[in-house]
Amino acid sequence: MATTFKLPDLPFPSNALEPSISRTTMETHHGKHHAAYIKKTNEILAEKPNAPATLEEVVRLAKSEGDKKLFNNAAQAWNHAFFWNSLSPEAQSGPTGGLKAALERAFKSVDGFRDEFAAKGANHFASGWVWLVSDDSGVVKLVDLHDADTPITDASQKPLLVCDVWEHAYYLDYKNDRGAFLKVFLEKLANWRFAEAQYEAARSGGSDAYRFPS
Ligand code: FE
Repeated sequence: MATTFKLPDLPFPSNALEPSISRTTMETHHGKHHAAYIKKTNEILAEKPNAPATLEEVVRLAKSEGDKKLFNNAAQAWNHAFFWNSLSPEAQSGPTGGLKAALERAFKSVDGFRDEFAAKGANHFASGWVWLVSDDSGVVKLVDLHDADTPITDASQKPLLVCDVWEHAYYLDYKNDRGAFLKVFLEKLANWRFAEAQYEAARSGGSDAYRFPS
């Protein structure tokens, strides 16, 4: 039987991030954009009888085989699921523990991290993602990747947190002001408890901490 994936539920109600992100944006982003990437991935996999069972493996295989259409859809399916987990409806004061220390080493301070993240997002040309990643030794850095690109195809980078900077992520709420959206993401929405768990997993073994539900 062909491998198929289901659209994962949002980890919170679609209005839980209001007023930072409207219910309309969440319903469109999750229910239309994310759903379409999953549907398309399944359509492509229907023609591939020996596809791997997990979305992570599908993404990596598509990348290594140069199957652009499958890669774009499968990676976008994965990236969005990771993005929902990178958002928190509860106000969080900021990073703590080992992750906080790593951010201070890399960016001098948590504010330094926020400034650099916002600048990377604002300066990213066209569609893509801003990722906070860690290597196995716990050194963190920021990478902005284009379109569907994802750090999970690079074994030396473990994703900790991501912000979607495609226009569909913010246009209904912030129009063309991506900077305002990034500021709200960094100050109100970033799910530090999720990023901390990812960081501990990255340092303690190298396998994926977050896995797309299969
Ligand atoms: Fe998106």
